[in-house]
This record gives sequence, C-alpha cells and structure tokens, in this order.
Amino acid sequence: MNRYADIVLPLAQPAYTFAIGEGVEVSVGDAVAVQFGKQAVYTGIVWRLHDTPPARGTAKPILKVLYDKPLLSALQMHFWEWIADYYICSVGEVMRVALPSIIKAKARCEEEFSPYEPKREAIVRLVAESFSEEIRAKMARRAPKRYEALCAIEQAGGLLPRYAVQLDTTALKALAKSGLIEMGERDYTLNCEWSKTLLPKLSDAQTTALDNIRNGLKEKRVALLHGVTSSGKTEIYTHLIEERLSRGEDVLFLVPEISLTTQLVERMRALFGESVTVYHSKLTPQQRTKLYTDILSSESGNFVVGARSALFLPYKKLGLVIVDEEHDSSYKQTEPNPRYNGRDAAIMLAAMHNAKCVLGSATPSLESYANHLSGKYAYTRLTERYGGVELPNIVISDTVRNVKRNERKRHFNKELLEGIAERLANNEQVILFQNRRGYSPYMECPSCGWSARCPKCNVTLSAHQQKGRMICHYCGYNAPIERYCPNCKSGELRPMGFGTERVEEAVAEIFPDARILRLDGDTATSGAAYNRIIGAFARHEADILVGTQIVSKGLDFADVTLIGILNGDNLLASPDFRAEERAWQLLMQVAGRAGRRDKRGEVIIQTAEPDHSIYAMLGDYDRVANKLLAERKQFGYPPFVRIVKITMRTNDKERLVGSSLQLGEQLRSRFGRRVLGPVAPLIDRVRGEYRVELMLKIEVESSFSKARSILREEISKLKSDRSYRNVVVICDVDIL
Ligand code: ADP
Ligand code: ZN
Ligand code: ZN
Repeated sequence: MNRYADIVLPLAQPAYTFAIGEGVEVSVGDAVAVQFGKQAVYTGIVWRLHDTPPARGTAKPILKVLYDKPLLSALQMHFWEWIADYYICSVGEVMRVALPSIIKAKARCEEEFSPYEPKREAIVRLVAESFSEEIRAKMARRAPKRYEALCAIEQAGGLLPRYAVQLDTTALKALAKSGLIEMGERDYTLNCEWSKTLLPKLSDAQTTALDNIRNGLKEKRVALLHGVTSSGKTEIYTHLIEERLSRGEDVLFLVPEISLTTQLVERMRALFGESVTVYHSKLTPQQRTKLYTDILSSESGNFVVGARSALFLPYKKLGLVIVDEEHDSSYKQTEPNPRYNGRDAAIMLAAMHNAKCVLGSATPSLESYANHLSGKYAYTRLTERYGGVELPNIVISDTVRNVKRNERKRHFNKELLEGIAERLANNEQVILFQNRRGYSPYMECPSCGWSARCPKCNVTLSAHQQKGRMICHYCGYNAPIERYCPNCKSGELRPMGFGTERVEEAVAEIFPDARILRLDGDTATSGAAYNRIIGAFARHEADILVGTQIVSKGLDFADVTLIGILNGDNLLASPDFRAEERAWQLLMQVAGRAGRRDKRGEVIIQTAEPDHSIYAMLGDYDRVANKLLAERKQFGYPPFVRIVKITMRTNDKERLVGSSLQLGEQLRSRFGRRVLGPVAPLIDRVRGEYRVELMLKIEVESSFSKARSILREEISKLKSDRSYRNVVVICDVDIL
C-alpha cells in the first residue's frame, strides 16, 4: 500500500510529499485539495505514489480528491515534465499555464473549495430572417455597436456561443429587446459533424503541395508549408484536418492569439460544424474549465483551434498538430515561467503522440528553414497567390531625397501622398503602418534636453495625446502631459519622434475627407474593440487604417490596394540579433495584405536608408534567408547555437552586482567562453527593480540537456549563499 503522494502545486517549487489517509483512494494524475503554507488550500496534482515518509517533519494529509477521475494522463505529465526540464522551471509553474484557473484554484479553507460544475452554454440566435437595406443603413449610422453584433451573428450563420465572438453586452441586450435576436442556453456537446463535400476544391498548385506534404510526412514527423500570403495554406490544412478527424483522431490547429479572429473560426465552423472547439486565454475560467473537462470525458476526434495554451488540453489520440504562422514571435511566452515556445512544444507534443506536425508560414523562421535545408523537415512551397492575384509591387521611397527636394509633408513622402490620394479617388482602401503606438515616443525640452522618464523604470514616458497623459509602457506609471519643462522651467516641451496617434492626426489634416480608423494597443483594448475596428474596416466603413504590427496579422481586406510603411528604419534599428529577420518578416507580412483579384497591390516603404541590402532582396526569400543564416553561423547565433538568457533582478543594487559577478564566475568555470556578461540590459530598471543579464551560448552539436543541468546546479549553488537568496534568477531558453 502506498501511504504517500508527491504532489505538484501551482508554484515555483518542487513537488511536496503528502500523506494518504485511511480509506482515501488516489491515483496518479488526480487533482486533490491540500493545505500548504499557513492558511492556504491549493489544488495539487498527484505526481507519484510511494512509501517513503518525508525526510523532515510529518506529511500533512490530502484533504480531498476533487474529481472522480484523473485530470492528467501519463502522456500529459510527461509533456509537462519536458517543458519544465527544457525551459528550466518547475512543473508547478507549467501547471499554472496548463490548467484553467478554476481547476487550479487556491482557497482559504477546504469548504470554499468546490470543484467546477458545468453550466449550460450561453448562445445568441438571429430571429429575423433578413433586414431591409434601409434598416441596416439606419442602424449602422445610429447604433454602430448593435450593427456590429448583428453582422457578427449573421456571418456565423445565425447562431453562435456568446464567447465565440466578444460581443458588446449592452448591444446584445438592446437587440434582444427589439426582437431581432434571442439569447438562450444549450447543452454544449463536442460531437463533430461535418461534410466532406464542403471542403474547398484545391487548385493544381495546392493539390501538388498537399501531395508533397502527405508524402513527406510518411518519412518525417514535421512538414514545413512555405506559401506566400493568400496562397491558400488554410485550404490545404482543411484537407489534412478532415483526413485525421475521419479516422477518429484529435486535431490541434494552433494560431497566434491575435489571429484567432472571427474570420478564421467561422471558416472552420462552416466546414467542421459548430463543435469546433476554440480555446484561448480570453475565455473566462468557467469556459476554459468546461472545455477542458469536456475533452477529458470525450473520446478522441476533437478538433481544437487555439492559441498556445491549447497544447495542454487532455487529448487522447492526437493525430495532427498544425502550427500556422509558425515564425510568429508571439508563440513564445515571455513572462512569466514557463517561457516556452508554442511551436517547439507543439512539435514535441506531436512526437509524444506519434502524431504529425505541419508548420505553415509565408515567411518561415530561420530555424525552420534551416531544418528544411538539413533535411530534418519535409518541405513544400507555394509561390503564387490563389486565383492568380499578383504579389504587390514594392516601392522604396527615399525620405532624405524627399526632404532635400522639399517634397515631404508631415510624415509622408511624395510617393505615399500621391498613392493615398489616388486610392481615395478610386474608392480603394489604404493601410498605414507605424511600428509605434501613442502620439510620440517621448516629450523633450529643446532648451535643456530634459525628457520625461518613468520614476520606477529606466525608460522615457510615451505621450498619449488623446488621454492627455504620458505613460510608461513597462509598468503603467502615468502622469499628465506638462507644457513647460520642469527642469529649466522655461523650455516648452516638444514631442519627439512619432507614433500611430500622430500619424492619424496628420492624415486627417492632409486628407480631411478621408474616413480614418486606428488600430493599436490604445484602441484595441479588448477583443471586442479589436473586432469592432477590424469589422468596420472590412466593411469599407473607413478608407484608411493606421496601425501598429497588429495590422500585419492574418487579415483579409478585399479593397486594400496600398500599404504604406512610414518608417522602415526603426524596424531595423534594434540592437537585437533578430532585428533584421523580424523587420523582413514584418515587411513581407504587411505587404501580403495588399492587392486583390482584379488589381495589383502596392507597398510603399519610406526609409532614410534606401540602400540597405534588405530592401533590394525583400521579395527573394531564399536569398535573404541564406544571407542571414550565413551571418548567424559566422557570429554564433541561433539556429547554430542555443541561447539561454539568465536575468537576475532585485531591489538591492549592490547585491545584484555581487551575485551576478559570482554567477558569471561560476558559469565561466564550467562553460568557459560560452558565457557572456553580466551586463546591464537596455532597460536596467523596471518597477523599481534593477536587472542584469548573462547569456549562455551552447553549440547545437553539444549536449544541451547536460548544459541545462549544470546551469541549474550553479544557480542553486548561488542561491544557497544566504545573502543572495532574495535575488530572483530567471532563465529564458531559446530567446526570441
Ligand atoms: P493563406 O492561408 O495562405 O494566407 P488563405 O487560405 O487565406 O491563404 O486563402 C486566401 C484566399 O483565397 C481566401 O479568401 C480563400 O478563401 C481563397 N482560396 C484559397 N484557396 C482556395 C480554393 N481552393 N478554393 C476557393 N477559394 C480559395
Ligand atoms: Zn528644460
Ligand atoms: Zn515604469
């Protein structure tokens, strides 16, 4: 009889041993309530059963078993362990992202601890069959939010779960009151019904690509689908998905959180039925828990479209994982632990299930491209857009020459001004891309050079004119925008640089008749706000959309024929080794939004450095990739080495210096010249805490698991020094 259980708690701690009381039955993978610390009761996961009492003290008893069956399978536990090991964190930290928060709840006492009970799902349903154009026009004008909601429901075929699209509650209530829609409930089932005949018929090029993938996957685990934007990668995926589902296997379709748009979900629902499971971080804990337990109690054959957290759902027989936009850096969790890469974890998860993995992108990451070159991945390419739509024409516009000839107005060169005017005259749409939100990066005094900085972080504050405030993008600190310099008391503060808000203002001034929308972190504050802006632009209710990189993500706008990139240089200016790769991918992704069936699109890139080699090669993927790979190899960067960034932080500057020098020394004695630093990062103080960084570079040929265990060892050695116990040490493996 096992009398003890090692239990993982949602903490940055190892598993703890608890006692199994008389008559209590637990199995590995069970969720249980246990008391930990003075007054807290946690959900923990039973990780291991054994007979060894703890070395110190007596083990506390398990309070209760929360569900009638285990929440985790052996395979899932294995997957959690892999993440914890590879990304250098605790299994408990993996638990924090892996289980919906209701399941992993913490409470003050046992009684507060009720396990989740399923609710019926809230739905909305269209009542009226159709509305006259007259009513539509009126509603669009007078009640845009209501109109918005109605359009969304209509597009979804008249019925959808409340959470599928984030709709405005007030608007829904108003619609229900006027009898246009019904709000109700239903039991949610995962039964997948779909019809094969609905799948799109593929073009010749798409058929060839699909065959290549199928053949490639006979031998290899991973296939890379490299297809330009709008080549119809999604259509190819649907055929692969259908194949697996009809065999009764689970399929996971991963997308970056931001691309999880209504557009995509509805496309999938139209093919695979309403029961396509959508899983992402904006769902409420209730909804997430419901989906988790539904999949847990279902047989396989589930189709999940989700963001990276969908990797942790309890699949029984995963047959296929698709990672769309695999190059996207938002697959990496940057904060807090586990700092995992969703794409790489997906490949690992697929391998554990003996499933196949398809990575798709118009601009594959250098890592994946290198894996194709080395023969590790199967590879296929689509070079043409579906339906023969031409790729846009790229124009490089020389800002310096424009200034010299006095042809630049505000933020716009002559080429762009003429381009916008022409599109407006033709009733076509324009997207303007500026990689910065806010009115300006910062306020500066022209007389003494003073600039407004955050008191708690080592950064300048960004001015947000509409809010009348200067905001720290790191900690949220904000203060009113002052007119005069608080330093010399005479200078009149001036905004330096420019962001989206200022671009919007300038466009409005130059083109007073144009209808303008802005999409950035300030306007797209919620899923609903985001959908509202995107929806309005898609319906051509505005002519110009000004935005940050949000606009580059998986959106389809039929009438956009011009994209202006206001400042190509600041994309390239970052000191990061990935700056050029990122700038290039971003430019290609943004460019992919232009053009339509009957008209070739145009992209105008404004730059003060028109001779930069990247611009000349922009459209030639292989050339750019090979150039960048050669540089990475020469200077020792990924994919030729693996990088672990070690960040140390604390309020006490002296301790930070002491501990980081010591860790540096320790690591150098084991890894030699593979250790860089400690150095202060660009932003060396955040929320009052000082930071330093060390970098560890391990050649891909050497054993990375050995390197990780040495690193863990040295960190715990450092932490065993009492004076350094409060220094926070964070490892970030495979930094992006
Ligand atoms: P990608 O995912 O490569 O960016 P999409 O799959 O979104 O491209 O396809 C771009 C557009 O072309 C979409 O509007 C899509 O409906 C259309 N399309 C692509 N392939 C087909 C096909 N085989 N049949 C009908 N429409 C297609
Ligand atoms: Zn001053
Ligand atoms: Zn701050």
